[in-house]
Amino acid sequence: MYLYNTLSHQKEEFVPNHPDVVKMYTCGPTVYHYAHIGNLRTYIMEDVLEKYLRYRGYPVKRVMNITDVGHLASDGDTGEDKMLKGAKRENKSVLDIAQFYTDAFFADCKKLNIKRPDVVEPATACIGEYIRIIEKLLDTGYAYLAGGNVYFDTAKLEKYYVFYDHDQEDLAVGVREGVEEDGNKRNKNDFVLWFTKSKFEDQALKWDSPWGVGYPGWHIECSGISMKHLGQDLDLHCGGIDNAFPHHTNEIAQSEAYLGHKWCKYWFHVHHLNTESGKMSKSKGEFLTVSLLEKKGYDPLTYRLFCLQSHYRRNLVFSWENLDNAAAAEERLLSRIAALDPADQSPVDQAALAALQARFTQAMDADLNTSLAVTALYDVLKAKTNDATKLAALADMDRVLSLDLLARAAARRETQETDPEIEGLVAQRTKAKQEKNWAEADRIRDELKARGIVVTDTPQGAKWRRV
Ligand SMILES: [Zn+2]
Repeated sequence: MYLYNTLSHQKEEFVPNHPDVVKMYTCGPTVYHYAHIGNLRTYIMEDVLEKYLRYRGYPVKRVMNITDVGHLASDGDTGEDKMLKGAKRENKSVLDIAQFYTDAFFADCKKLNIKRPDVVEPATACIGEYIRIIEKLLDTGYAYLAGGNVYFDTAKLEKYYVFYDHDQEDLAVGVREGVEEDGNKRNKNDFVLWFTKSKFEDQALKWDSPWGVGYPGWHIECSGISMKHLGQDLDLHCGGIDNAFPHHTNEIAQSEAYLGHKWCKYWFHVHHLNTESGKMSKSKGEFLTVSLLEKKGYDPLTYRLFCLQSHYRRNLVFSWENLDNAAAAEERLLSRIAALDPADQSPVDQAALAALQARFTQAMDADLNTSLAVTALYDVLKAKTNDATKLAALADMDRVLSLDLLARAAARRETQETDPEIEGLVAQRTKAKQEKNWAEADRIRDELKARGIVVTDTPQGAKWRRV
């Protein structure tokens, strides 16, 4: 399969470092508030990537951090700690806030059919890892102490801006956010590895360190957690595109300085979900959460389909109207699947199944083209093959897309309309069969068929549906 690698700016064939495991790392949520659906778009697409790797036969070990300390209001080192801000807002302890929003995050993931990663690690559980890395960075001259904090010295690197040439843009960010200068920094892009002299007197969580009581910077946690669980190299690192700089850039800086070799092979970045007025955020406009979608009567899986309908490297514009279009497409898809006969006893046509699967893998192998993969579902419905084969193909693709297609179609069959006249005919046919009056049973079946009704005999009795 081919994946776009942000590091090389091109699509590359995916070849993991080790044949026995794909090491995949995902930046997890900062648990100070509910996730908005823009954050969740990233997790949906990462979930699809993980499931597709497994579908292709790769054993995957996926690790995700939970940021419960150290993430300041800006992605640099300025502003208030987001966790502390959440705790103050809700008058709770930082740990209570972390637990509450971690649970809320995974509840949202469950509704969106996002699988929980194999390892989920809170940042506060790995302080020893960060200290070990920082000590070595100080020993080797990549880090320095200033004003009580430990900083990473970006001037020691041959190349700091590994993804893009951010220099100009980055300056603009500084001006825009009104970031105050940190006089301790030797270079503009240096970042904090460990805070002791915090301007936040009331920082709730602090640990002992060789440099005094304090807490870790945000970036170090992903390097520490990744190395703890996945060792000295990574195949895939995922996150939202806004994490490429400075977060991932800093992760690479400190990890490779620490390891002395290349760290991660492929960088997978999901682009923004925008509203019609611009980038989605928690503070601007309507706070779009999974709960809000539900409150408005949408199935969260409709949002998953909405995301799958577009490519992960394109910005996607969310509006209620766009979501309604996805809901209408979903409605058509599910009703057509519900019209397939689940009791079809014909053998699965293996050649037809393989041809349908090939369309799906072709789409997904091309840098995870999920919108074409969704089209492959319609190809299944249009194919000239029996229902058993179609249902097998849909079930197979849904292992990756996770839209609960078959279960939701089955639920539609259950809640079939009631029609006394047709039910009367179905009952007459059942009676004729019990009386072994086969001619009469067949006559009624044909009459129903002429009205566009198909009857299926199941262990629970005869079921009917319109075709
Ligand atoms: Zn991270």
